[in-house]
Amino acid sequence: MAELRHITSAKDFGFLDFLEIFRTAEELRAIYNDPVKRLSLMYLLKKANGEAFRFRILYSGASTRTIGSFEDAIETMGGEVKTNPLEFSSAAKGETHRSTLRIHGPRCDCIIIRDDKDDYAAKKMAEAAEEYGLATVVIDGGSGSRQHSTQALVDPYTIWRRDKLRFMNGELTLALVGDLSHSRTIHSNLIGLSQFGGKVFLVGPEEENVPDWVFSEIDTNKISVEKIINPRDIAALVDYWYITRIQDNLRKGKRLSKKQIEHYIRVYGASIRKYARTDSWFLHPLPANQEYPEKIDLMDSRFIHYEQADNGFFVRMALLKLIFVPTLDIRTILAEQQSVWVSGYFSRPIELPAQLINAVCPEPSCPRVRVHTNWVDMDPEVKKHLIKAKTVCDRCHPQFYIAK
Ligand SMILES: [Zn+2]
Repeated sequence: MAELRHITSAKDFGFLDFLEIFRTAEELRAIYNDPVKRLSLMYLLKKANGEAFRFRILYSGASTRTIGSFEDAIETMGGEVKTNPLEFSSAAKGETHRSTLRIHGPRCDCIIIRDDKDDYAAKKMAEAAEEYGLATVVIDGGSGSRQHSTQALVDPYTIWRRDKLRFMNGELTLALVGDLSHSRTIHSNLIGLSQFGGKVFLVGPEEENVPDWVFSEIDTNKISVEKIINPRDIAALVDYWYITRIQDNLRKGKRLSKKQIEHYIRVYGASIRKYARTDSWFLHPLPANQEYPEKIDLMDSRFIHYEQADNGFFVRMALLKLIFVPTLDIRTILAEQQSVWVSGYFSRPIELPAQLINAVCPEPSCPRVRVHTNWVDMDPEVKKHLIKAKTVCDRCHPQFYIAK
């Protein structure tokens, strides 16, 4: 697995990256869901000197999920984050992405950029970071109508959690439905899904299709892709439906007529549920328009878009962990932050912060750990092997101690 740095395309994730991100997301989820352990996550986005990693999110257009879940992920992991709309920054006065990167880069570790107008926003910034020799990492949070790189993690992760084996074996049939030309989440998803194989139907009006550049980035040996106009034709085959709205904000000059919009809502939205398989699932990257009624999930449990949105938080935490502290063992953080019960020195067992332990006895069956210069017995539930310093204890090897 190559080291992850800038994320400017779904193509930046290899198959093993996906698996590592999914596995890490599961590990972080388990810690997050345990109120006792959750605070340990605060120590993840810290540098060796204790300073927090600093993030700046720059965005144009509206986004509640992507920016919100990045902010939540960064704060939960103890990083520092500032969020600025591009409209209110110098970008509105014509400042280029290059220049914005050069200005903010030296004082932040990461820029997350979302720009609804520029298809290459993240790419331009990433190139500028390299040219200026800055360590700043650039992450695409949605570039024009082209890519939405991190969404390519969220949706496969949602499918992987529900159908691990069939997904990994390329046995699933997925339908990406809607505004095929302009939905950047469809583009990034198709690139991401192509790593897993399986069958993908691109379902949309006759005049719409995924642009050629997307096809040039997918491995067609692994995945089979077919364009379909009527979703009813494939309903018996589809395991996962991925619905999208008309990307009005990204369609530039190509707005649809009222009649086309009505047709879209009728054919390419939640109405598919009427004939979809009872064991199929519905995803939507949100925001949804009329094609996907707001309370549909309360009426039909196959609609799992809120689960998908929640997954965005965990998968983005995992991504940040793997970019900024790739070698940090989360279990070590947990071990250091918890408190442990020790006995054998005091008149009764007492609770101490695990950070006070400065060595453990390497003998496998020995419960002894050293606190200051004293050897005490530690509660055997604590993962002793995570403490790096090893010294044989006075009970296992008294010969080293008696003489003193
Ligand atoms: Zn010992």
